[in-house]
Amino acid sequence: MDKKNLQIETKCVQGGYTPGNGEPRQVPIIQSTTFKYATSEDMGKLFDLEASGYFYSRLQNPTCDTVAAKICELEGGSAAMLTSSGQAASFFSIFNIASCGDHVVASTALYGGTYNLFAVTMKKMGISFTFIDPDCTAEELDAAFQPNTKAVFGESVSNPALTVLDIEKFAKAAHAHGVPLIIDNTFATPVNCRSFEFGADIVTHSTTKYMDGHGSAIGGCIVDSGKFDWMAHAEKFPGLCTPDESYHGITYATKFGKEGAYITKATAQLMRDFGCSQSPQSAYYLNLGLESLHLRIERHCLNAQKVAEFLESHEKVAWVNYPGLKSNKYYDLAQKYMPNGTCGVVSFGVKGGRKAAEAVMKQLRVIAIETHVADARSCCLHPANATHRQMSDEELIAAGVPGDLIRLSCGIENYQDLINDLAQALETL
Ligand SMILES: *Cc1c(COP(=O)(O)O)cnc(C)c1O
Repeated sequence: MDKKNLQIETKCVQGGYTPGNGEPRQVPIIQSTTFKYATSEDMGKLFDLEASGYFYSRLQNPTCDTVAAKICELEGGSAAMLTSSGQAASFFSIFNIASCGDHVVASTALYGGTYNLFAVTMKKMGISFTFIDPDCTAEELDAAFQPNTKAVFGESVSNPALTVLDIEKFAKAAHAHGVPLIIDNTFATPVNCRSFEFGADIVTHSTTKYMDGHGSAIGGCIVDSGKFDWMAHAEKFPGLCTPDESYHGITYATKFGKEGAYITKATAQLMRDFGCSQSPQSAYYLNLGLESLHLRIERHCLNAQKVAEFLESHEKVAWVNYPGLKSNKYYDLAQKYMPNGTCGVVSFGVKGGRKAAEAVMKQLRVIAIETHVADARSCCLHPANATHRQMSDEELIAAGVPGDLIRLSCGIENYQDLINDLAQALETL
């Protein structure tokens, strides 16, 4: 039986690791920075990328590779790597194929940390970004490209705006311009959204969120679909399609093919030079989370749906944003790209604005106030008082984060307890 054809639930539990006779049933934590070889010649082959193997855990570690292989199977990709955080994954995913003087088209509906990385830090490195409304027309999207554009980036379900990306529209535009589409699939996870099946070429994750799912370890992952033909656009991607002098003139796209070139280059160059590697201990926690991802995601989505429906019908609630609600702008796109559910995060506003939002949150007993999302425990955040505290009321509205917005991340508790908690808090208004 070919284990590649298993259902996603089975891959969550068993993917990436098949122990042999007498080997540990659980993924072993290889807590070692270094690995031993009999001869210098053996070692030399690894440094030349002539043989594959481990020599230093900044570049690769067996525990991390095993867990990356599981995520690779979940996404249906050809190669994957873990990174120290979601931020590192976002950075590497672009910096692997774009450098000073290049340009990237990105959706405006992004995680705040990603927006800062692109608009401030990567801009300082000489990479420019055009941010485009994900609801733009095909013509507007087309007009965002430049001759030096190297990639398109968007989130399948965005954090915190909960915008659902029209992945096929973005993939079509990217491919028409000879560049890959990179999707941050953190909120939807591969259990809900299979981006590669809709044309995405590369997927990134903050594994800190649903994949870990217990608030235990910061981490990230990059998965390559293996479908993008770098050599067909060799003039755009010299880093993949011309010899790498720092690796004795290897050309990644010819030596490792479509399936391996991108991740091999990111490992050999970016991990070597930046060292944003995940610790084997964190990868072990991540794997424990992955083993129950399919079960948890189902419950997160059920709870969010029930809570969103409750809030929508409540007289003291001004508005609710959840793509699983029929009234939601993104309902149809969500049905197309993630018919089993989107994520466990709901945002809403209470009548009475900012002050009322503060008052309601103070009364919550089951739902905790935290700067976090996508955790087994329900939590909420008032961005106007936390992540977006420096902004005026006008600036908050322009950023799509009005002063009354409460971001609620539904955990995996019983949804009636969450509804009761919200009901008693709203009652006090
Ligand atoms: C949290 C998050 C990130 C950043 O991940 P870290 O693990 O915190 O570095 C990136 N993208 C999305 C969608 C996120 O929610």
